Amino acid sequence: MKPKKTSAQFAGDASVQPLRWTVFFGDPQQAREPPGAPELLGGKGYNLLEMTQMGFPVPPGFILTTAVCKEYHGTGGSYPVTLVDEVNRCLKQLEQLTGKGFGDPNQPLLVSVRSGAPVSMPGMMDTVLNLGLNPHTLQGLVTTSGDERFAKDAYRRFIHMYSSVVLGVPHAQFQDAASQLKQSTGISEDHDVDPDKLIARYLNIVAKKTDKPFPSDPMEQLWGAIGAVFSSWNSPRAKIYRKIHHIPDTLGTAVTVQAMVFGNRGKHSGTGVAFTRDPATGEDTIMGEFLINAQGEDVVAGIRTPCQISLAEARAWAQRQAVGESERTAKYASMEEAMPAQYRELIDLMTRLETHYRDMQDIEFTVENGRLWLLQTRNGKRTGRAAVRIAVEMENAGLITRKQALLRVPAEHIEQLLHPGLPENHGATVLARGLAASPGAASGQIVFDADKAVTLAQTGTPVLLLTTETSPEDVHGMHAAQGVLTARGGMTSHAAVVARGMGRCCIAGCGALSIDLANRSCRIGDHRLKEGDWLTLNGNTGEVLLGRIATIETQTDAYFDTLMQWADEARRLQVWCNADTPEDARRGRQFGAQGIGLCRTEHMFFDSARITHVRQMIVAESRPEREKALQHLLRYQRDDFRAIFREMDGLPVCIRLLDPPLHEFLPNESLEMRKLSKLVGKPVNEIIRRVSALHEINPMLGHRGCRLGITYPEIYRMQARAIMEAACELSAEGVKVLPEIMIPLVALPEELVFVKQEIEAEIALVMQQKSTEVAYSIGTMIELPRASLVADKIAETAAFFSFGTNDLTQTTMGLSRDDAGRFLGEYQKLGILSEDPFVGIDEEGVGALVKIGVDKGRATRPDIKLGVCGEHGGHPQSIDFFHKVGLNYVSCSPYRVAIARLAAAQAAVR
Ligand code: PEP
Ligand code: MG
Repeated sequence: MKPKKTSAQFAGDASVQPLRWTVFFGDPQQAREPPGAPELLGGKGYNLLEMTQMGFPVPPGFILTTAVCKEYHGTGGSYPVTLVDEVNRCLKQLEQLTGKGFGDPNQPLLVSVRSGAPVSMPGMMDTVLNLGLNPHTLQGLVTTSGDERFAKDAYRRFIHMYSSVVLGVPHAQFQDAASQLKQSTGISEDHDVDPDKLIARYLNIVAKKTDKPFPSDPMEQLWGAIGAVFSSWNSPRAKIYRKIHHIPDTLGTAVTVQAMVFGNRGKHSGTGVAFTRDPATGEDTIMGEFLINAQGEDVVAGIRTPCQISLAEARAWAQRQAVGESERTAKYASMEEAMPAQYRELIDLMTRLETHYRDMQDIEFTVENGRLWLLQTRNGKRTGRAAVRIAVEMENAGLITRKQALLRVPAEHIEQLLHPGLPENHGATVLARGLAASPGAASGQIVFDADKAVTLAQTGTPVLLLTTETSPEDVHGMHAAQGVLTARGGMTSHAAVVARGMGRCCIAGCGALSIDLANRSCRIGDHRLKEGDWLTLNGNTGEVLLGRIATIETQTDAYFDTLMQWADEARRLQVWCNADTPEDARRGRQFGAQGIGLCRTEHMFFDSARITHVRQMIVAESRPEREKALQHLLRYQRDDFRAIFREMDGLPVCIRLLDPPLHEFLPNESLEMRKLSKLVGKPVNEIIRRVSALHEINPMLGHRGCRLGITYPEIYRMQARAIMEAACELSAEGVKVLPEIMIPLVALPEELVFVKQEIEAEIALVMQQKSTEVAYSIGTMIELPRASLVADKIAETAAFFSFGTNDLTQTTMGLSRDDAGRFLGEYQKLGILSEDPFVGIDEEGVGALVKIGVDKGRATRPDIKLGVCGEHGGHPQSIDFFHKVGLNYVSCSPYRVAIARLAAAQAAVR
């Protein structure tokens, strides 16, 4: 590609308007500074421009900026009026630089038309290669290349790609036509097919499908491709990708039009993709794939088996595949062996690119007749493990600062290091999708009730518990199972919260699941499964997969420990954990929790031995009857608290008194009712009457939280006694106990005053009986809008606030925690909500109430301790918000503690 003459410098010519919607690159005479940021030029265009300015071998081209995309979508498909003129000028400049003509039958210029968003979205948008070919330019390409087969191969590829991307002809029709031709002529490889026959078949398909001949005018082709790339910004897959990765829809994509170079011109040509470091492990070694005599899409499409870039990698690959050395060198010689000079040049360029961008690079390149060209560089996608290692090693090498290293690892990615995952190419059928409620992956035999889960798990079989929705009685089954799938429920539903706390993978709200308990079977979409069948859950993506897939175990490493240490040095927010059991407490502490921010005492009641006494307490109709049941519970609770305090020696433990509506604990099956009737010595009818009397239409707004403690003070008194008896006993043993007692669902300052008086009286009694003094504090949850609004008054009584953002979201937005998942997805699809408000805090609404609560609380009591224990406490973006409003700590499930530590550090250094 030799320049015929140097650029006419259109951009600098005084008689011509400067380019507004387009930017040219690849002209050696061009200004050194990129005219515009990646937001305008797209990541790909910006980097191509920078690479040419660094003197790297990049085929010249031009960029239609993201501003054109915005105009295009904003006007329903029109371009700015001067765009055609600008594109024509850029094409001219490209022709002059390359010494070829667009549509010129003698020296045809072919171009690629590719998307390039400001944030990379690999494979999500469209690309057209070899554009500019028609029967006339094809002859030119045959003559100039001296290679008829190559030229025709380029043409059939172009017809195929252009027709499927721009004209909407299904890709499969071309594939079918190629296979039929191969079959009928007994040929196995694409490049052995008679190209004329294939081209004729392809053109026929297009004419039939579109009722028009394939467009032969290169300008028509070019505008068709540009329009298709801009339209692909709004393709369903691109939209979904943006949603998953929190990429704003408003960014738009740029389009890059670039002179083609050809990797399919024989054995001195080839194409490849390479990473400067291993994207799976982060190891500092070149990784990649290379195909001789091929074009880019051949590598991606997996039609041929590519070889490795370096010899070392090729040998390692051969060993894994059990391919002998002679077979390897014959069939899969590495690029290092096949093209040593180009290999060395590539390594040199890659090293320079990584140093320049100070991040791992993902590069596309082509060798045309022995000459190396770079077609793209971008920051490479990587696993969580690789992200951590690369950040730490780059900091150690002085390439990036410690702050940059902390910001390099998306906090959510830490999750991958803590839970099992699935291999990338598991190939299993996705039966349905639900909410990715608790991360990790699990395969198991399906069961439909908690008891069955326990009995099957006892035989050593991995089990998945499938239920319509979970109830408190299912906790033992959830614990026994490897994973949980529910048809109903949202991200803060009981199943989700409990599963996250246990580190079990969970998919909630999977509408495609319907269970037929009577026949011990279920339907998931179109599939019918019976109890005992194998299923796999991917709690990271929400995918329900058919059959059994071996999961990949994960463990942390020294890089992770280093990054976490840096995070702890950088953050201001403390990170506590939500834990209801000694095991959770231990795990939380191992992950670095600095306290327990929420111990939900009701979870301790679900155990099958205890639930009976809980029920006995609930159905009691007199105080003495209730106190009898409470005596049993006191013993259990005291033991629970002793074990938890012991685990958290020296760290604060915030215990919340009973919160859920009582009817949640009640039996709903006749067998359970009969059992209870026997235990309390009352007829079954009585029990049924009492259960239905307790039934509430709207239990989440009903008789729950401190309302229980006010109407049944003996329940809270029992719990306060259990806490302080445990505290006094352990303190006497030398354990450092720091109890905090938390009252839920307070709306009125008077509620807190009442409850506090009751429990303080009980605590005074305990201390007197035990002759021990243990310092403690009493505070409240702020989880109702009214509580935030009167937080100054509540702070007169409360030593601390913990924002319960689950209930605060529910009550502020009037959205049910358990059911809203059924339509919130639609809201997100329509762009009414960008995220589930139970996952990421609604800063404008719920967040504003948190801010009011913080300001009012501190106004009354400047040293008031402020935390959050709703599920948002483990969500990175929400943690950023909690840092900004000045909370003292966030509290989250044990498995999210590491994520929260990193997110808190990122909030501090940002
Ligand atoms: C909350 O409401 O945010 C909270 C932590 O309490 P729970 O989820 O137990 O209602
Ligand atoms: Mg709550």
